[in-house]
Amino acid sequence: MANTISIHPAVDQGRQPAAANFTGGTLVCRCADKKVTVAITGQCAHNHVCGCTKCWKPAGALFSQVAVVPRANLGVTANADKLKVVDPSAAIKRYACSGCGVHLYGRIDNEKHPFFGLDFIHTELSAEIGWAPAEFAAFVSSIIESGAKPDNMGAVRARLKELGLEPYDCLSPPLMDAIATHTAKVSGVLRS
Ligand SMILES: [Zn+2]
Ligand SMILES: [Zn+2]
Repeated sequence: MANTISIHPAVDQGRQPAAANFTGGTLVCRCADKKVTVAITGQCAHNHVCGCTKCWKPAGALFSQVAVVPRANLGVTANADKLKVVDPSAAIKRYACSGCGVHLYGRIDNEKHPFFGLDFIHTELSAEIGWAPAEFAAFVSSIIESGAKPDNMGAVRARLKELGLEPYDCLSPPLMDAIATHTAKVSGVLRS
């Protein structure tokens, strides 16, 4: 019963392990021609499934899958002119292909943001095998805002746990701690 729930195609059949010494890959949009391509150098970090309403999700999936890479490791290699920012007022500017709607990457311009310097990517857009798999589920309750049935949330959380994706209704504790540490340093509460 539980496994009729589609969390995300990249995890529904079980998570695939990261490859040792993975060197990166190319993200490709879903247009039939003039595809936008984005080259990523090296492995991603903090890969997770996300239930928020902002991240790009494939059709039928309850969650997106999103990871980060250092922005210096990301470069648009073809058809950059097709990219448009989905919501210029958002903290994370998500660059989507104006042809197919896929989000190629998200970038933070505010240098004071805790995650400044990291770009957000969807590794499923790459044909390369060996990306670090999703580690947890973020913003789980938010899928209700996209139309998921509140009565089904127990089954969704049970399925996430079955897949080894601990469900959180914000980010994971290490990432929430990193954000709070950044904030406390900026305010001067925390020194060193
Ligand atoms: Zn496209
Ligand atoms: Zn999200």
